[in-house]
Amino acid sequence: MPHDPDHTEPPSDPALRAKALETILTEKGLIDPAALDALIDTYETRIGPRNGAKVVAKAWTEPDFLDWLRTDATAAIESLGFGGRQGEHMRVVENTEVIHNIVVCTLCSCYPWPVLGLPPVWYKSPPYRSRAVSDPRSVLAEFGTELPAETEIRVWDSTAEMRYLVLPKRPAGTEGWSAEQLKPLVTRNAMIGVEEAARPA
Ligand code: FE
Repeated sequence: MPHDPDHTEPPSDPALRAKALETILTEKGLIDPAALDALIDTYETRIGPRNGAKVVAKAWTEPDFLDWLRTDATAAIESLGFGGRQGEHMRVVENTEVIHNIVVCTLCSCYPWPVLGLPPVWYKSPPYRSRAVSDPRSVLAEFGTELPAETEIRVWDSTAEMRYLVLPKRPAGTEGWSAEQLKPLVTRNAMIGVEEAARPA
């Protein structure tokens, strides 16, 4: 499986240099590590995943768009302006009453940047990368996701050639909701597949 040479594990040379640079800039008082953490958090949990949430909410409310996602996810997602690096080859995997999908990159940290932003630290961690494959049900349980025993769990291993986005099940109790109303229910973790979409308050 081909993987991007710039985000392999263990940390590539550029990653180490970035860390060294951060340390020097912090020591010289040129950057505030807390501000840097806030910036990373913004891209990891807020700006990035909002794009994916828009894709999912649109799929929940527009059957034509859902069909397009099923047949050519890359083009459908790009039509919303979310394309480019690390999102060139997208596939959407759909949760149903009997199938639950979860995404991992077993070799490194391949992740659909245009729709989800930066990968969370746990996604890149060796335990997640191995256990998502060997024991996905207990990984899900650790995220508080308990699925019926009969639910089939499908694990998708991302590569540079294919990035996956989970289409969570639309939560019950949201009949008639607009895409705008639905978007906040679509969390990053639901689109990785470790959780289900949030329930309406
Ligand atoms: Fe990877």
